[in-house]
Amino acid sequence: MPHAHPPSETGGRSTDITVNPVFTAEPVSVPRFRLPDAGLGSDIAYQIVHDELMLDGNARLNLATFVTTWGEPHVNRLMAESFDKNMIDKDEYPRTADLEQRCIRMLADLWHAPDPSTAIGCSTTGSSEACMLGGLALKRRWQHRRRAEGKPADRPNIVMAINVQICWDKFANYFDVEPRLVPMEGERLHLGAAEAVALCDENTIGVVAILGSTFDGSYEPVAEVCAALDDLQERTGLDIPVHVDGASGAMIAPFCDPDLEWDFRLPRVASINTSGHKFGLVYPGVGWALWRDEAALPEDLVFRVNYLGGEMPTFALNFSRPGGQVIAQYYQFLRLGTEGFRRVQQTCREVATSLAASIAALGPFRLLTDGSELPVFAFTVTEGQPFSVFDVSAALREAGWLVPAYTFPAHREDLAALRIVVRNGFSHDLAGLLLDDLTRALGQLGRQSQPQRGAEAASFAHGTETPPAVAGKPPSRQDIA
Ligand SMILES: *Cc1c(COP(=O)(O)O)cnc(C)c1O
Repeated sequence: MPHAHPPSETGGRSTDITVNPVFTAEPVSVPRFRLPDAGLGSDIAYQIVHDELMLDGNARLNLATFVTTWGEPHVNRLMAESFDKNMIDKDEYPRTADLEQRCIRMLADLWHAPDPSTAIGCSTTGSSEACMLGGLALKRRWQHRRRAEGKPADRPNIVMAINVQICWDKFANYFDVEPRLVPMEGERLHLGAAEAVALCDENTIGVVAILGSTFDGSYEPVAEVCAALDDLQERTGLDIPVHVDGASGAMIAPFCDPDLEWDFRLPRVASINTSGHKFGLVYPGVGWALWRDEAALPEDLVFRVNYLGGEMPTFALNFSRPGGQVIAQYYQFLRLGTEGFRRVQQTCREVATSLAASIAALGPFRLLTDGSELPVFAFTVTEGQPFSVFDVSAALREAGWLVPAYTFPAHREDLAALRIVVRNGFSHDLAGLLLDDLTRALGQLGRQSQPQRGAEAASFAHGTETPPAVAGKPPSRQDIA
């Protein structure tokens, strides 16, 4: 919810920012919350902003985020060279536009589109925008079909599991689609095929399957969901497409699990998104949305922009957008190739699985996942320990590590877990240091008489990925991804 700066932000301090006396003969301060009357010298303005940002977290110790926090100097250089390029200006920057098209073809090939040379897709600001576009295409296709059949098209629904990322709640809310959420049950912490089909009816625009879940890094059973929907079609005639939210996994599975069928090899998969800025190894923000063929993206959603005297189709929510991320994505594709991506992602998986095993061996934890799908795992504290997952999270925070703790949604509100995301740059060495700090923390936590913190302590001031939970209200799924 948009809100003004909380008063605690400035405490009892003056709301003015004082300038370092090195720069000025007279004491100078500038207002914090309104435009200064006069400007400042560029050196002074730079120093103020730079000093303030020093207090941001150390991204390399942030095991909460999925988003890229490190790039090679050449990525940084290419991005600096293209700060001024506007992605939408295809006519002005035709080479950038061409790199975007090449990336789309490469992804179409990677995800086994029936004909990559005619695959359609686009870059976006991230997976959220890409999911909106995927959802909109499903909704429009369904509306066209219903109207053609002379049936009402005013009560669309979309079926997905309760662990979907917040962007799907936004899609349903912003575009008036009823969200039908499959709850978790027992050890099933994501979508089940039978449970998804049970919620489908003639008003279902599509089923969303996630590769993989932000709660625990597990892959949802895309092929099983498709098979169950094939069966539904045989029984009832209902033909319901699937969108795969591969924000993370669409850049992991092709390299680490090449035999896993989750993509356009499954004819029912109509569209796929990924975040270039997650395991695509680009800084935020870039995402990708692809459709299996032209029939999957209704023509009436597509606009035309000028391009080299001709026109180019676009489908997007944003208009102007930086070009550097798309350029950096193309660089990463060239730089690493299939073999390089496999090496990088496989290393993340090895670090994740070995760290998970070491944590399990400490004793007081139970793994919910082991890092063998996304290089992400979740673990909980076994019963009877004198500390909670929230205590563990707070103790690690004291050592500088950001490891979020959160409760699960319906029907596993009883389950609270910690989650670790292993990204490129989080090495076996760093994992060893984390394990040392965790072991040390356990020494102290083990001497507590009882757990100190509950779900209200899930306070990771980490942007939208892990905002502080509101006291008394259990964190909802938007709090953790
Ligand atoms: C991160 C994530 C999103 C949102 O992606 P952004 O690129 O941050 O907009 C959507 N779905 C899943 C499964 C995610 O992990």
